[in-house]
Amino acid sequence: MDFKEFKEFSADMINYVGNYLENIRDRKVLSSVKPGYLRPLLPAEAPNDPENWKDVMNDVEKLIMPGVTHWHSPRFHAYFPTANSYPAIVADILSDSIACIGFSWISSPACTELEVVMMDWLAKMIGLPEMFLASAGQGGGGVIQGTASEATLVALLGAKARMLQKIKATDPAIVDSDVVPKLVAYSSELSHSSVERAGLLGGVLLRAVATDGEHKLRGDTLRDIIRKDRADGLIPFFVVATLGTTSCCSFDRLDEIAEVGKEEDIWVHVDAAYAGSSFVCPEYRHYMKGVELVHSFNFNPHKWLQVTFDCSAMWLKNPNYVINAFNVDPLYLKHELEGQMPDYRHWQIPLGRRFRSLKMWFVFRLIGVANLQKSIRKDINLAHEFASRLENNPNFELFNEVTMGLVCFRIKGSNEINEALLKKINDRGKIYMVPSKVKGSFFLRMAICSKYTQMEDINVTWNEVKEAGEIIMSNEK
Ligand code: PLP
Repeated sequence: MDFKEFKEFSADMINYVGNYLENIRDRKVLSSVKPGYLRPLLPAEAPNDPENWKDVMNDVEKLIMPGVTHWHSPRFHAYFPTANSYPAIVADILSDSIACIGFSWISSPACTELEVVMMDWLAKMIGLPEMFLASAGQGGGGVIQGTASEATLVALLGAKARMLQKIKATDPAIVDSDVVPKLVAYSSELSHSSVERAGLLGGVLLRAVATDGEHKLRGDTLRDIIRKDRADGLIPFFVVATLGTTSCCSFDRLDEIAEVGKEEDIWVHVDAAYAGSSFVCPEYRHYMKGVELVHSFNFNPHKWLQVTFDCSAMWLKNPNYVINAFNVDPLYLKHELEGQMPDYRHWQIPLGRRFRSLKMWFVFRLIGVANLQKSIRKDINLAHEFASRLENNPNFELFNEVTMGLVCFRIKGSNEINEALLKKINDRGKIYMVPSKVKGSFFLRMAICSKYTQMEDINVTWNEVKEAGEIIMSNEK
């Protein structure tokens, strides 16, 4: 493809993308294709000779779009949001054009240097303490991981390296195999499945600790379990505090957990994958109380801050534990200017990394902090609006307090009737939600996911829920 053709093709694609996003409300949110739908529609083998880009464009609408779930539809209320914005899309075009692999500073200096500055900007935007800023010169700093799952695993491996180092320093005869089987990590019973997975991948025991009546992990519960484990000869080394659980957006008591972490000398990692974006608004930062005592902090701008996937922001108070834990140093990756700026290959699991800070830079400059705050507040207000409709209807109850852009609710009655309600809502096909179950109670989650969601969409969603509820209730009688 030459430049002339590239210009025509990309102009056509930009036009297509704009029309897709601006009119996304008109598309059916959930695809109705069946598993295996695509293979019969595609040739069995790749073409030998180049095709015309116009044919490819036609096939996008004909073959691909029918199998797309429209995550940016204002009627999509499943999971948590995934971010989208024009500046981020354009930044990814540039990133894909530069197409560098920024594993070390020398491999593309701007890729590393923009990331260092953007992570400082973002830390300031959400009110993180100075110790996490590279510019503060206290040893801390940020890195962009692909996902929150990777960030948790990296933190756990850093914490494991830290504890091994500490214990071995007390007696040179101690080897890893004396310690690793005794290591124990903790998280709330409602932490994301990726936390359990980090324990499995890290080869350590991970305890899911019971939450209180508001679904929060509390300091006293954690302290009791840690002390019992120590008495049993185990070695506590790591705890994950979740700010905004996936199940029901509850917030662990970071202030209490961080105190326990300090008393017990264990690494505290914060997983704020979804809710972390809300900290651009000062009124939500109270959930972060105690953050000055934590060792690592992570959230996903790719969820709720208009930076497209993948962009998971992680800060480390002392990156050296992670850097040393993963340090393998073949000659071909070394360079003469090492040590002055991060070589991010040591901060992550893969070697290769994309120029992801470009999309942060474009989004922050072209949207601005005030508009990012406005958009978060709009989503939270819409969630409260939906919750107030539920509260004013005799058929429904809220499962828990609405804190962010997620409303957890149920029809008053059994789990089975709530399962039937969800099926009815999704079968009607106008909106899409997923359920959750906490402490035996099945409920529906209504997440505000699209930046296009407005009050008119909440009206549509509420009518769908209300009507489905009436049908289910009348079937019950
Ligand atoms: N942690 C929490 C609290 C989440 O809600 C999620 C996903 O929704 C994750 C971790 C996993 O995120 P990722 O897909 O970035 O690994």
